[in-house]
Amino acid sequence: MSIKSFQPPQRILMGPGPSDVSARVLAAMARPTIGHLDPAFVSMMDEMKILLKYAFKTDNELTMPVSAPGSAGMETCFVNLVEPGNKVIVCQNGVFGGRMKENVERCGGTAVMVQDDWGRAVDPQKLEDALKANPDARIVAFVHAETSTGAISDARTLVEIAHKHNCLAIVDAVTSLGGSPLKVDEWKIDAIYSGTQKCLSSTPGLSPVTFSENAMEKIKNRKTKVQSWFMDLNLVMGYWGGATKRAYHHTAPINALYGLHEALVILQEEGIESSWARHHKNHLALRAGLEAMGLTFIVPEKERLPQLNAIGIPEGVDEAAVRNILLNDYQLEIGAGLGAMAGKVWRIGLMGHASNQRNILLCLTALDDALGRVKAPIKRGVAIDAANKLFTA
Ligand SMILES: *Cc1c(COP(=O)(O)O)cnc(C)c1O
Repeated sequence: MSIKSFQPPQRILMGPGPSDVSARVLAAMARPTIGHLDPAFVSMMDEMKILLKYAFKTDNELTMPVSAPGSAGMETCFVNLVEPGNKVIVCQNGVFGGRMKENVERCGGTAVMVQDDWGRAVDPQKLEDALKANPDARIVAFVHAETSTGAISDARTLVEIAHKHNCLAIVDAVTSLGGSPLKVDEWKIDAIYSGTQKCLSSTPGLSPVTFSENAMEKIKNRKTKVQSWFMDLNLVMGYWGGATKRAYHHTAPINALYGLHEALVILQEEGIESSWARHHKNHLALRAGLEAMGLTFIVPEKERLPQLNAIGIPEGVDEAAVRNILLNDYQLEIGAGLGAMAGKVWRIGLMGHASNQRNILLCLTALDDALGRVKAPIKRGVAIDAANKLFTA
């Protein structure tokens, strides 16, 4: 055997996640591993909770990172809140709403699906109608930022409708946290999960979550045990909870948590509102460049997610060939379509640390070159000027 150390290539990540991780975060992760009950580590955990509350804009006591990726944050919300026999209204407008249905059913619940077109926001009226038709529903679930299509939904309104009908609201904020306005307390969201590898720009593998008091109440009053031992919040809180002495539940991913801590410190330095504004501004610049070339967005303007730009593939273009040119000649990764969107769109991410002027100019230059080489019907040589107008404005 003579296998050598793994040396990944240096890429620029402009897909649907993971996004570029800054040198500061990587350096933090290389610091010495200490015990998960070491007093120094426990104080870092306390800071982590404060930083996450800041990012989520909440005072919820139960705010912490689940020790697994965004999908596990999703599962944590569902296994704790859905009891066998519960009816859950799931709004679906892309891939991730479909996963919510899977979760509900695996918890023994019934999912009532409210379908919207892929590439559109969730329609509040359809949710209202579904709740009227299903007065026994107790939970509403939806995706705030659909990464599969690049559409953002009006979370505040959807939660308001859920509450009007005595339902708790579970929200997927994997791609919105840090990139789009999100106010957990003001919008009264009951349970919400995110990920570290999208707009927080830390490494994949952790899922920040936060639960309201109403959600906690439902979890405490469950008639059945949570089906997952690992994700049972009653047990996890023995380690992450503040009031009691911390006890071993599982070995926390120590160094990954250093990375998230650093990423959240960076977010705090920038300011959450400034981060939202930066994501929006950079989206406008990328958009100007793409549209100047003649490329088009699949999501109507008002429903577009700034950090995930889904654009149609020009007639006759081999979409994989273009992505290969970007990856091989520019070290630049953009995303392919997912699910029903496979082969129909490219997904250009402008998430977290990767959302900056250099990346936008590089991406436009690379697309101009690659699309030229595959003889796509686009306007060449105009994208950079169009984007730069927005940076110098
Ligand atoms: C990425 C993503 C997830 C899943 O997160 P993983 O970290 O890949 O498990 C869930 N929901 C949305 C909206 C996402 O973008």
